[in-house]
Amino acid sequence: MKAHDGMYIGGEWRPASGQDTIAVVNPADEQVIGHVPAGTAEDVDAAVRAARAAFPGWAATPPAERAARIGALRDVLAARKDEIAETVTAELGSPLPLSQAVHAGVPVLVAGSYAELAASYSFEEKLGNSTVLLEPVGVVGAITPWNYPLHQIVAKVAPALAAGCTVVLKPAEDTPLTAQLFAEATQEAGLPAGVFNLVTGIGAVAGQALAEHEDVDLVSFTGSTAVGRQIGATAGAAVKRVALELGGKSANVILPGADLAKAVNVGVANVMSNSGQTCSAWTRMLVDAERYEEAVGLAATAVAKYVPGERVGPVVNAKQQARVRGYIEKGIEEGARLVAGGPEAPKDQGYYVSPTVFADVTPGMTIAQEEIFGPVLTILRYEDVDDALRIANDTVYGLAGAVWGADDEEAVAFARRMDTGQVDINGGRFNPLAPFGGYKQSGVGRELGPHGLSEYLQTKSLQF
Ligand code: NAP
Ligand code: MG
Repeated sequence: MKAHDGMYIGGEWRPASGQDTIAVVNPADEQVIGHVPAGTAEDVDAAVRAARAAFPGWAATPPAERAARIGALRDVLAARKDEIAETVTAELGSPLPLSQAVHAGVPVLVAGSYAELAASYSFEEKLGNSTVLLEPVGVVGAITPWNYPLHQIVAKVAPALAAGCTVVLKPAEDTPLTAQLFAEATQEAGLPAGVFNLVTGIGAVAGQALAEHEDVDLVSFTGSTAVGRQIGATAGAAVKRVALELGGKSANVILPGADLAKAVNVGVANVMSNSGQTCSAWTRMLVDAERYEEAVGLAATAVAKYVPGERVGPVVNAKQQARVRGYIEKGIEEGARLVAGGPEAPKDQGYYVSPTVFADVTPGMTIAQEEIFGPVLTILRYEDVDDALRIANDTVYGLAGAVWGADDEEAVAFARRMDTGQVDINGGRFNPLAPFGGYKQSGVGRELGPHGLSEYLQTKSLQF
């Protein structure tokens, strides 16, 4: 795999300030595929200064011209989609078809949506005798995770650019090659120097330096709740804007009148996709007592199709593998019934975890409360609809979810009572314009579409 040995700052690849590097490992075979520089506070400072210098010019660029540059970025991502898919497969381990359709495909959609929004959005509104100007917040520090390496970057950078902000990105240490490819794409798309900057490195050093930098106006973070809490506290102390996209433990609620086979099959596919490393995954399936055993049987059959190394890839690294296997052991220990998979690694090489299904899971169990971030489905039993609602809302998280009912009306009535940011009704399709983000401890702020754009704007009102 191609790897740059510098940082992308001010429109060029510059030598890193230090000598340390990060080895990038392919989780499917545990081989080192490249090295990238481990950024320091000095690299972060250089990148923030470049972003600051570029800010006035980019902020003053007419929205139609910003739209054209984001459109060009979308075109480069589309033209390089095979290379992107291969890079994501190499550093994340996801099967190539998934990398092509989702990891490479969705960012093209999202970038395209922001090319359109930049051109059509009203950056000015009238309110009585006031004109309200919607102005870019300034320099954005973006910190992203490895689970959807390019999507997480584009979901922050595209709206920031559309708003007129400039960006410094610190991507996950496990997936820096995709981030370097994205930096190349911004250059190829003709973004002015300094509008987008990349510092690879580890979270505790480069990430923390970026979150703490006094000349960053907004920190946008996606990742674990533990780190998000820390970043929120740092931003609060400095009185700066912060957006946090954190964990989830979403419910897939199958109401008594729903098509059970369809709801179970789609639900299993949702959890197994990307080896379960999806913050919005519906990891808790809720089924009524009457059809419970039928649902468990259907889930066990469905999951058998997810063969490790074929349809399901490894998890990202050895630490995540150990963590997920620990949760499976915990589930057994706490008395859940294992109906598929288990804690043993299914392959000798690579960080694989067996696709696992637990039945007889009760709401208080660790595996029903904590984000596992692996191919592990829990199935819970409810007595009636109010009981289902209680269980669905009984976690600290509230990121996503699904409801299946006899019709949309019944499912929507239930969804209205859920404490969560996004709900798919009877298998509703992904919408790149729909706001994505959490209730409760799943986060602060929204990404995607016009709501995602507004995160990067601040208002100034002029009275006449
Ligand atoms: P993480 O540590 O929160 O990583 C997210 C990003 O934050 C990475 O770029 C990381 O850098 C950086 N970071 C880490 N510590 C930081 C700090 N002190 N200051 C600033 N930035 C920092 O998540 P993880 O360790 O990769 O995964 C752990 C768990 O988080 C997973 O098991 C899962 O439950 C959850 N997770 C959630 C999402 C989501 O989309 N909501 C995504 C990934 C993980 P490094 O790459 O160097 O750590
Ligand atoms: Mg980490």
